[in-house]
This record gives sequence, C-alpha cells and structure tokens, in this order.
Amino acid sequence: MPEGTPSTMLPGVVDHHVHLGLVDRELLAGSTVTEVHDLGWDPREAVTWAAAPPSGVRVRYAGPFHTAPGGYPTGRSWAPAAAVRHIASPRAAAEAVADVAAGGGFAIKVALHSGLPLLPDDVLRALVAEAHAAGLPVVVHAEGAGQAERAIDAGADTLVHVPWTETLPDAVIARATHMTWISTFAIHDGPGGSFGLERALDNARMFVAAGGTLVYGTDMGNGPTPVGVNEREIGLLGRVLEGESLLRAVLAPPSALALTAPLPLPETAPDLITWLRAATRLPDATETEPGH
Ligand SMILES: [Zn+2]
Repeated sequence: MPEGTPSTMLPGVVDHHVHLGLVDRELLAGSTVTEVHDLGWDPREAVTWAAAPPSGVRVRYAGPFHTAPGGYPTGRSWAPAAAVRHIASPRAAAEAVADVAAGGGFAIKVALHSGLPLLPDDVLRALVAEAHAAGLPVVVHAEGAGQAERAIDAGADTLVHVPWTETLPDAVIARATHMTWISTFAIHDGPGGSFGLERALDNARMFVAAGGTLVYGTDMGNGPTPVGVNEREIGLLGRVLEGESLLRAVLAPPSALALTAPLPLPETAPDLITWLRAATRLPDATETEPGH
C-alpha cells in the first residue's frame, strides 16, 4: 500500500439474521462482526449465548418461532421442539409475547409459510398488538403467495427475508415503507435459486426507492453459510445500495466505531469487502491498560 495511507475507522458488522444454534458461534470471537440477532431458537438456550457471547460480539435473540399448530418450521430437522411455539388463539398470542418479554427476547418472531398451516389474521394481529404493547417489534418470515402482504398489513415491523417468492405490486410496497427488510440475498444464490434472487433484488430496489430500510442479514446457519462476514451477501447488497446507505445497512451506527483498516473509507461493496478483510478491532474501550 502507498506510504502514508491513513487508517480509517468504522463500526462493526451487524448481522440481523442468524441462527447461532446451527453454527460454531465461537468462530465469531474477535471478528469484524460485532453484533448478531438470533431469529429463532429455544429461548432457554439463547439466553445463555447472550450472557456468555463469543468475545467482542453482542448477541440479541428473539426466542422461538411463533406459528400455527403444524405450521413452519414444525418438524424441520434443524428446529428443536422448544424453538417452535404454536399459537392457536389470540389469548395464546398474549401468553407467548409475555414469555418472550420475560425471557429477555428483543423481538417476536412469526412464521407465515404458505403450503403449511397458517396463523389466521385475528391471531396474527393479536401477536402484533401484544408485541407492540410490550415494546417489542414483530419480525416475520413470510414465504409464498400473499404472505408478505399479510405481514405488512398486520403491522409487522420487519421481514426477515426480502420477499423472493413473488414480485410485490407497487401498492403493497407503498404500504411497507415503515418497515425494515433483512437482505438474506445470498441464500438464493445457489443452483436453481437465481429466479428467487432476481425477484428479491427487484423487490429490494423498489422498497428502498419507496423509502424503506434495507439491512444486512445472512440467515447464518441456513445451509453452508460462512460464520463471520458473508462477502457474497455484501456483494449482492451492493446491487441495491452504495456509499453511505450501504455502510448504514451493513454496519452498526456511526457512533459505535469498532474497526480500523489502513485503507480509505469504502464507497462500493467491493471496497467494503476489501476494507473488512484488512480491518482489525480497535482496542476495547472498556479494557483497562496494564498497570492502571
Ligand atoms: Zn432464518
């Protein structure tokens, strides 16, 4: 690198969609990922990850998937029974939300997956109302025809995957601009997945153009995802965002500087990938120097 290239500083990477129960989470210790959001597991296990996280990583967790009896992901080989809570009524919704709040969960995870039993609208709306009354956002896995629209119109706060099973009409996108959508583009990037990927990128572009907030998330643990920065995910986000808005989507808020690299500040996705490869952690401000 040229003589005199100044070092620059940035916040760490925040992965808004992970499943720590499915990866070797200690691989995150000291990496450029400084915060992860676990979106579905046995809450009694998740609380122990947050209490004793990989070094230098903040772990937040949602707790269980809330779904219809028999609904997704009931019975999936990767999903322990305690990671799935069946909600059969509005009253059950209230009890479930109270349990997440009492257990330290940061959000209510809801699954709407067509082709399997689905939460009816009254139960879905009860989950949203109870969550909001408890100060918790509702984060929805929406898959299949009409399910993203149901989440949007029920008042959900986040879609945990940019919709990929259908192209959303402009009128539906226009009702979603208060939301955050989590990218997870790279999970559609395998063999046979390209239609889903192109649809997701199209939906994301329309959503961002309409004023919605798109953030980085990988679904780490779903398939052979890297445990750390997912460079393919950043590369695909770069097909939607660049400059400041790309950095905002991938990194913690600017006040939380955590990394330094001997490179200029990145402007594009390839720049950001290169910057993160070269980055090291800043000394932890909470550590005391030896002898003091
Ligand atoms: Zn997931």
